Amino acid sequence: MRTLSLPRLSACPALRPFLLGLLVLGLLALGQSPAQAQGLFQVSTLSALLSGGYDGQVSLAELKQHGDFGLGTFEALDGEMVVLDGVVYQVPVSGAVRVMPDTARTPFACVTFFHPGSQTALGRAASLADLEQRLDQALPSPNLFYALRVDGRFSFLKARSVPRQEKPYPPLAEVVKSQAVFEFKDVQGTLVGLKCPAYAGGLNVPGYHWHFLTADRRAGGHVLDLALEDLSASVAAIREFSMVLPAEGDFLGLDLNRDMSQETRAVEGDRPEEKSQ
Ligand code: ZN
Repeated sequence: MRTLSLPRLSACPALRPFLLGLLVLGLLALGQSPAQAQGLFQVSTLSALLSGGYDGQVSLAELKQHGDFGLGTFEALDGEMVVLDGVVYQVPVSGAVRVMPDTARTPFACVTFFHPGSQTALGRAASLADLEQRLDQALPSPNLFYALRVDGRFSFLKARSVPRQEKPYPPLAEVVKSQAVFEFKDVQGTLVGLKCPAYAGGLNVPGYHWHFLTADRRAGGHVLDLALEDLSASVAAIREFSMVLPAEGDFLGLDLNRDMSQETRAVEGDRPEEKSQ
């Protein structure tokens, strides 16, 4: 297998455009094009979602005008959203995936137009933390946003979904206590990933955020852990970020001026009991 790794562009700044050009030319010479993503479009903020802001704000018809790849959730926190190849899938708490109609609404989602390109081969990933460490070493900078797509066969994958909520909405940290966890063994599928820089914390999940769909598009969820033998990722840096804030609904009355970093870790699965050996 041909192994490609993204160069770390830490050389003289004046050389960077030149090095990037060489990278692009090199990939083209190999018959591969680099992955590309346009700006990241986000509905509402993570802090609003953590605080129970589950009112649907934007229709899926509108969301799809801003991207064909991404993740999020639905009105009333009705399961996990996976946007893949322009289709918006719902992984409800039952685990039975369905394609959502354009009229459905989302309180929180992030999408981009992502064109997968050359794959970066990164070897074996024994866990989600291991995968993220390998990607960290391959990415040119921690200060950009990234869209990441991993297609492959996973020897193990653990994902979750959350139950639809009724008003008054509880905070997300309460809801995840009743999350459904799905475990897959030797499963073919796709990881839809976003990486946000640490400075975006509060607006979005700082670090990596992964949702998963099986190749038959019948199961998936928000990824808690995984293992795979032959990791190969398509990665694109994103340098533009836009966000639409709700003009009505529960968002306007939420208390968003507090430190929610602990809650963020809790709901994203970064808890000792969620870590596999
Ligand atoms: Zn998620």
